[in-house]
Amino acid sequence: MKKHNFSAGPAILPASVIREAAKGVANYEGIGLSLLEVSHRGPEFTAIIEEATALMQELMELPEGYKVIWLTGGASTQFFMAPMNLLDAGETAAYVDTGTWASKAIKEAKGFGNIQVLASSKEQNYNYIPKGYKIPKDAKYLHLTSNNTIFGTQLHKFPKSPIPIVCDMSSDFLSRPLDVSPFGLIYAGAQKNLGPAGVTVVIVREDLLGKVSRYLPSMLDYRTFIKEHSLYNTPPVFPIYVSMLTLRWLKKLGGTKVMQRRNKAKAALLYREIDDNPLFQGTALKQDRSLMNVCFVMAPGYESLEKEFLKETEANGLVGLKGHRSVGGFRASIYNAMPKQGVQALVNLMRDFANRKA
Ligand SMILES: *Cc1c(COP(=O)(O)O)cnc(C)c1O
Repeated sequence: MKKHNFSAGPAILPASVIREAAKGVANYEGIGLSLLEVSHRGPEFTAIIEEATALMQELMELPEGYKVIWLTGGASTQFFMAPMNLLDAGETAAYVDTGTWASKAIKEAKGFGNIQVLASSKEQNYNYIPKGYKIPKDAKYLHLTSNNTIFGTQLHKFPKSPIPIVCDMSSDFLSRPLDVSPFGLIYAGAQKNLGPAGVTVVIVREDLLGKVSRYLPSMLDYRTFIKEHSLYNTPPVFPIYVSMLTLRWLKKLGGTKVMQRRNKAKAALLYREIDDNPLFQGTALKQDRSLMNVCFVMAPGYESLEKEFLKETEANGLVGLKGHRSVGGFRASIYNAMPKQGVQALVNLMRDFANRKA
């Protein structure tokens, strides 16, 4: 049976990328070796990482002065690595608390300077994006989470900031066009919208680096990776290869503009069903709803049907729809690689279920 993968992460990848990656594991481009066993300094991988970096620059339309680096440790390592590199002891950074990942970023940053939390939606279980807060001009940076994977909210418009924005874009990376110029640093774990788990992309404005007085171990200093083109030590060869294949796929489809159009259409289809179907209701404030992670629960009076619906999704090949424990209900992650047919299959099942149960 054809399965549709709604997992939050590691998540769906384009089918063509998985086929190509499988070939590379067996015999990379006919060289008689697997990509898994070639040197990271050899010609094969050199070409891969160079192409991945160039595609990233092209698809993100990076202005002059920004560098792309490939790291390990996940987005969670960036929660401390960003303040460690950008914020000196005694200096202040501003954070907005929009969910579990944002609050983890806040917790880690506190070890490196003064952390000012400008706003939080915690009191409403993070079901909206705070707006209208004042951004202090004298803070080093403003940290934002562009898409809250767990709570299904997304920043549809970034605030105008007098200071560089540092942003966790793990779960909506490359899902829409972006003006990079207000950003000082962007980071994203690959396993939501780019590739398999194991690699983290950082895009950083180089002139912001080298300003802190603390000792930075080589492996935790962004400048090491810029200087060595992400080859200071052995990089995650295979995740970078698969990410490169996904970037090729994205470019071939038409880039972030086309992606945004597709993502809007998919999300509209699913939210329309959630709003129209008497059995279900959304959990996030409508204007802040994520185009990537769609969170919904059973409507009042129908709560007892939750387990049954989840069972039916699995029986129909729709996998990974169980909501995060902090929200409950369901979460449909419909990242770039999710085809519209996948969303349509879920909508059809929701409608069919309502016809039988409402
Ligand atoms: C998944 C996720 C993380 C954590 O990523 P790791 O790579 O597991 O460390 C951080 N932030 C956001 C927004 C995420 O979706």
